[in-house]
Amino acid sequence: MKKISVIIPAYNEEESLPILYERMEKLMASMENYEFEILFVNDGSKDKTIQIIKELRKKDERICYVDFSRNFGKEIAMIAGLDYATGDCVIFMDADLQDPPELIPELVKYWEDGYDDIYAKRRSRKGETWLKKFTSKMYYKVLQKLTNIEIQRDTGDFRLLDRRCVNALKKLRESQRNTKSMFSWIGYQKKEVLYDRDPRVAGSTKWNYIKLVDLAIDGITSFTTSPLRLSTFIAIPTFAILFLYFVYVIAKCFVVHEMIQAYQAIILLILFFSGIQILLFGIVGEYLGRIFNETKNRPLYLVNEYNGEKEMNEK
Ligand code: UDP
Ligand code: MG
Repeated sequence: MKKISVIIPAYNEEESLPILYERMEKLMASMENYEFEILFVNDGSKDKTIQIIKELRKKDERICYVDFSRNFGKEIAMIAGLDYATGDCVIFMDADLQDPPELIPELVKYWEDGYDDIYAKRRSRKGETWLKKFTSKMYYKVLQKLTNIEIQRDTGDFRLLDRRCVNALKKLRESQRNTKSMFSWIGYQKKEVLYDRDPRVAGSTKWNYIKLVDLAIDGITSFTTSPLRLSTFIAIPTFAILFLYFVYVIAKCFVVHEMIQAYQAIILLILFFSGIQILLFGIVGEYLGRIFNETKNRPLYLVNEYNGEKEMNEK
């Protein structure tokens, strides 16, 4: 029997957990052909979340948990979930039931069809402000422009991953994690499933705008070093203007026999030195970018098949 691990990061979710368990129990009962593991990662909750999880485990052996020493954030909770999951595939799900468990059979069906990474794409986002929807849309646009890897839009972390994707993700051990970009980075056979995102059942969102901006910047900077290239791009037009102005002043000097004015000399000096400074910043940035990529220590590639056999990324 194949085993499915459902990974649920939970931070102050005492109100959602009983409802979540009820719905998961129904779902698991309807999928008799699979073994289940519900792996909670308690991310340093300050309420009764861990007690509730422990209580659930007494009733139901399928409930497992990793309890963090403090709050490390959802991204770290997710990698811990991957490290401790024992299933043949894992499903990431939020504790607040914004990701309906009833979608799981469909995800599993595509997994059985041979897909490795089946992600749920939001058709609608209930209970979210237009500002959040708008900013998230713009963000995906910018991120896509900056990188060469295809990024799935309107996708959260709700997805099913085959064991080999799990093993691959476990190799990406950078500390400033942006899991969403990692799902894109690993590649493999992806499949999209549409769903309606529900509002939170209980409690309140753990995000605020500052956290979201943090996440957005992490997303860009962990994925690409192209912002570092900015100064190189600014240096080029600066030198171009310097050159044109220099030709203009010299030409005037020789053709019209007009003396070089003090202000012209000053403009030339400013352009010259600021151009050099921006350029040097750019060079430093290029090297910094290289160091950054090396220190991430990622595997250089991931293999899909070897001699017709699926590569599981165990090594
Ligand atoms: N979460 C977590 N650690 C945190 C913040 C959130 O493990 O520091 C969990 C939270 O319990 C929930 C999921 O991450 O299961 C998504 O959080 P939330 O619903 O607050 O985010 P939103 O759906 O509003 O984006
Ligand atoms: Mg939520």
